[in-house]
Amino acid sequence: MGSRKRSAQQRKIAQFKAELGGLDDLYGRERRRSEGTEERREAARRHRACDRKNRYATRADALEAIALCAEHGTGGLQCYRCAYCHGWHLTSHPQSPSA
Ligand SMILES: [Zn+2]
Repeated sequence: MGSRKRSAQQRKIAQFKAELGGLDDLYGRERRRSEGTEERREAARRHRACDRKNRYATRADALEAIALCAEHGTGGLQCYRCAYCHGWHLTSHPQSPSA
């Protein structure tokens, strides 16, 4: 009788886990849906950080542009390697190296 009770308990646990699996899938669907929003945010981030900026193929090109800007009165520019297009962009806002 004790063992039968245990197996009933195990069935309950198995059922509980199956329901958890169902929940996992629900979370999965929810996550996939919010990724759509995340994709749009990412696109906006990319636009700000990359698409709308001048792109330089090499660091030397970017530095040359910075020097040119400095000559024309725009100082304080820095360049950074773009994580999106792997070119170089200029920024007047210092960024952390990981950005
Ligand atoms: Zn870029």
